[in-house]
Amino acid sequence: MMTTVAGASTTLTGLPELVPEPVELPGHLAALRAEVRAFLDAERASGAWTPRADVWLSGWDEGFSRRLAERGWLGMTIPVEYGGHGRGALERYVVTEELLAAGAPVAAHWVADRQIGPSLLRHGTEEQRRAFLPGIARGEVYFGIGMSEPDSGSDLASVRTRAERVDGGWELSGTKVWTSGAHHAHAFFALVRTAPKDDAHRHAGLSQFLVELDRPGVEIRPIPLLTGAHHFNEVRFDRVFIPDERVFGELGNGWAQVTGELAFERSGPERFLSTYPLLAALVGELRATGSGGVDAGTRRRIGSLVSRVWTLRTMSLAVAGALESGQAPELAAALVKDLGTRYENEIVDAARLLVEIPPDPGAEGGFARLLADAVLHAPGFTLRGGTNEVLRGIVARGMGLR
Ligand SMILES: Cc1cc2nc3c(=O)[nH]c(=O)nc-3n(C[C@H](O)[C@H](O)[C@H](O)COP(=O)(O)OP(=O)(O)OC[C@H]3O[C@@H](n4cnc5c(N)ncnc54)[C@H](O)[C@@H]3O)c2cc1C
Repeated sequence: MMTTVAGASTTLTGLPELVPEPVELPGHLAALRAEVRAFLDAERASGAWTPRADVWLSGWDEGFSRRLAERGWLGMTIPVEYGGHGRGALERYVVTEELLAAGAPVAAHWVADRQIGPSLLRHGTEEQRRAFLPGIARGEVYFGIGMSEPDSGSDLASVRTRAERVDGGWELSGTKVWTSGAHHAHAFFALVRTAPKDDAHRHAGLSQFLVELDRPGVEIRPIPLLTGAHHFNEVRFDRVFIPDERVFGELGNGWAQVTGELAFERSGPERFLSTYPLLAALVGELRATGSGGVDAGTRRRIGSLVSRVWTLRTMSLAVAGALESGQAPELAAALVKDLGTRYENEIVDAARLLVEIPPDPGAEGGFARLLADAVLHAPGFTLRGGTNEVLRGIVARGMGLR
């Protein structure tokens, strides 16, 4: 039950309300959903791709991104004057959740479409918007995320990559790490120090630079996964020249900008749907054994997983609605990510326990391949985008508990 105290939503216990007002999807979005589903059915039928788990990290397919763009499903929230479609966040939500549920290969455009577009609109110069937004909406310009460094993951304020002032711009030196997709991407925003660290004001003196990854002095080195697959990279800067027009946002405002970017990064449906294609395949396998072969405990477990995806979606939609109305729902985004990523792991556990099909990373598709990818990627679910321990700290602080 809720009440309002001094303009802030609180519960009757006096604690702040955790999740924004629920959002009802307008009825007309059903037509958009049907259109996306028909497109995905046709793609699958043509053999263009096979559904996989955790596609937004590993399903890099530039042709697919372009085909989506041709239908107007990339850059949906980017204004028309910048090559986008001027549509709402909830319309984009419908498209993204359908893509993830289908296990479609969305990695190429994911970061650019999810967080770079909104950040460019919020903090970019007119020239930067015109240079990058149309390519993002066409599915031709891809971005990575240049935040983490060796020894600076959770504690991002401790980044050591630095920018020194030089004639006409800045020179970057340092190392970024765990940079997903940097070997394919065109650019990223690098969070760097532009003023020495002051322990009393740790978040001051940080800035963002829009770094095109083909600049001289940028070295991209692969960090293979256990499977040998290449998604991660270490990105080294050796006195990389960045002209003044690629300073991103305000010098010294890097911390606030990154925090805003993280709200987009943490709150979307990818934080609970990474293993949804495995859940669908699990239900398919159980159904194939016939109702006589599925015990009550299994049915309860599946029922619990299916009902919780609905709860998570309701919460995630509420965050999308709050973002659309200009609020900054960082606390709710942290909460959805914590609950959602643990849920993704529970699907993997259930799939391993309830069906006697071993994971097979060499399989073309189907349950064995979905399970193999999900098992191998699962350790990252609760780490990427901020670890769950850190997110709980954010929630506790937001509730005034620490
Ligand atoms: C699949 C994947 C993709 C990624 N892609 C990118 C990317 O594209 N770009 C990018 O910049 N980064 C990326 N990352 C990095 C990711 O953001 C970091 O791994 C994450 O922020 C944690 O940082 P860390 O690895 O340095 O661990 P650390 O910060 O060293 O944490 C180690 C452990 O200590 C715990 N811990 C740390 N501080 C606290 C605290 N204050 N309270 C309680 N516990 C704490 C953590 O929860 C964790 O369990 C990716 C990571 C993964 C797994």
